[in-house]
Amino acid sequence: MHNANLVIFDCDGVLVDTEPLTNRVLAQTVSEAGWEIDTQYSVTHFKGRNLKDIHQDVEDKLGFKVPDLLDTYRTRMYEALQSDPVPAIEGIHELLDLLDDHHSAPQHRCVATNAPIKKATITLTGSKLINRFPHPQDPTQFAMFSAYQINKWKPDPALFLHAASVMGHDPEDTIVVEDSVSGVEAARNASMRVIGLATLTPADTLREAGATQIVESHQELIDQLSAAL
Ligand SMILES: [Mg+2]
Repeated sequence: MHNANLVIFDCDGVLVDTEPLTNRVLAQTVSEAGWEIDTQYSVTHFKGRNLKDIHQDVEDKLGFKVPDLLDTYRTRMYEALQSDPVPAIEGIHELLDLLDDHHSAPQHRCVATNAPIKKATITLTGSKLINRFPHPQDPTQFAMFSAYQINKWKPDPALFLHAASVMGHDPEDTIVVEDSVSGVEAARNASMRVIGLATLTPADTLREAGATQIVESHQELIDQLSAAL
């Protein structure tokens, strides 16, 4: 297996510790609509997926329309993120330090998320990570790619293929770091290697989704990425 020249990071759950907060808000909002779920259910069934698909799941379950569900969720989610900035996931700054020192120039990494750029900008700014993803061609931008920019969401491979193309790399030279089933599937659908970070989602679940390797901590991730680059 040859070395990877580009690392694509998922944002939520890989770089920033947003998932406990966002799944708590989502579970609360869905419960108020009439389907009683808790945060763990949301993590297991909704994490990493496109909100439109989650909305459809909720309406299918309830048997009636909930037209304001996503607006209510987004309003509450942004309020919570603004009032209580989420931290970087433990170990991620050290990992990026290592990439800086090691093989990979800054232009060889980017962020690709199913979430809007607005959310990624808020969370990556609050966790002081945003400056670590400079855009390779445009110094006024950061190397962040959102599914909302192309209207294709993971597990569709389009977002990762788009990100690699803009960054100037082929899929076979790319390695993806993902913590959700939909993201692992998207990377495999794009013919990219993918390291599954099994923190909230169990290792076996990510392995079944097609993860090339599994790690359970950022220390293990540092070791695996060092070997792959
Ligand atoms: Mg994620």
